[in-house]
Amino acid sequence: METGIRDFIMAHPLFSHHDHHCTFEEFEKQREICTHRSLLGYAGADLTTAAGPRPARYADEDARMEALWPYIRTTGYGRAVMSGCRALFGIEYEPANFARITEALRASVAGRTPAEAYDWFVREKAGVRWVLLDWLFRIEKAEALRVDLYPGYYRFAFRCDDLFAIENAGPIEAIERFTGISALNLDRLVAALNAAIEKFKGTGRLAAFKVGIAYRRDLTVTDPTRHEAERAFERIRNGKAFYSGMQQNGAAVNRRESRALSDYLLRRLIERADDEDIPVQFHTGYLAGHWGSLAGTRASLLIPLFDRYRRVRFDVFHGSWPWMSELGAIAKNYPNVYPDLCWAWAMNPEETERALCEWLDAIPFNKIFAFGADTGFPWCEAGYAVQAREGIARALENKVRKGFFSGATAREVASAIMIGNGERFYGIA
Ligand SMILES: [Zn+2]
Repeated sequence: METGIRDFIMAHPLFSHHDHHCTFEEFEKQREICTHRSLLGYAGADLTTAAGPRPARYADEDARMEALWPYIRTTGYGRAVMSGCRALFGIEYEPANFARITEALRASVAGRTPAEAYDWFVREKAGVRWVLLDWLFRIEKAEALRVDLYPGYYRFAFRCDDLFAIENAGPIEAIERFTGISALNLDRLVAALNAAIEKFKGTGRLAAFKVGIAYRRDLTVTDPTRHEAERAFERIRNGKAFYSGMQQNGAAVNRRESRALSDYLLRRLIERADDEDIPVQFHTGYLAGHWGSLAGTRASLLIPLFDRYRRVRFDVFHGSWPWMSELGAIAKNYPNVYPDLCWAWAMNPEETERALCEWLDAIPFNKIFAFGADTGFPWCEAGYAVQAREGIARALENKVRKGFFSGATAREVASAIMIGNGERFYGIA
């Protein structure tokens, strides 16, 4: 049995295909207020799940943590917190140590500028060489073009879900403000969208378009005529439609009508991606938080887009969990689909390991992306990175154990899915 694979993977650098790290300025504000709870990342959501539909009242947040933490320390979210705390400070994440952990976290940022802290958390502790960030390139953010608020090894995804799940004139006004173009008609709105993209491109650090509309609507993308889109545009622009506060049924009907504008604009975005060979990242599968509708999020709903835009490269997120096998089949069938396990290791490590084993049997390994921490604070990166490496190691050890891969092949595959594929796909290295 080849024994060196795990060590090789645990020490191997990663490409994070997806993160939401705060800016240096936002990070500064955390210095004095971060606590052990700041390490929770996604695990905060499992506390709510554990609490059930009629949660008990607790004296404060710490009392709530002490009561509920024991139930979530076993989940993927919970285990990532423990791995992260161990990797950063060598301390077990448990209630008896919470005060010490707060102290250690504050001490770790105290002596460092934000840039130094990011280097320590992201590069040194998490072993992440590149970060593709979904946070900065948003038209509504005042600092949208400030790439100096991140280290040089960050690249950025442009995200504008508001336009592709449009219900009122707000997103139109926002893009007018951002570009200085008055979107007086549908063509000018498309021109404004392209001008916004141009501004982000001008930074030299635009790497992808990110589409996160699964949080707002289902992933069925219609193909509206220009006339249908114009009609929806006029109604929205004139403020006649789609505001909440309308009668429930009326709002539902109007949302369906507004879909013509959303989908028309989304198709123009993908055409721009086609023209310039800019990758498109899609959220598919499980939604962060609670009560989200899973029904409209499966990657298979995007098949008509994959089929239509055959030269566009799609980075399809989160393994489409819980439809991971299905995404494997899609990625085998559509040469333009690249399945991505960002965030998946945290949501369900066992299932993600199984999916990676399956995918490696079905999909050429140059198409698979194994990692993205998908987290807001850079100090959470290490836990998710350790968790992913452990899963990748188990999956590849499994291939060697079964005699499918030699040790050398397992290492070659690990390198590719952990970093090489991402560097080639995004043209970064
Ligand atoms: Zn995300």
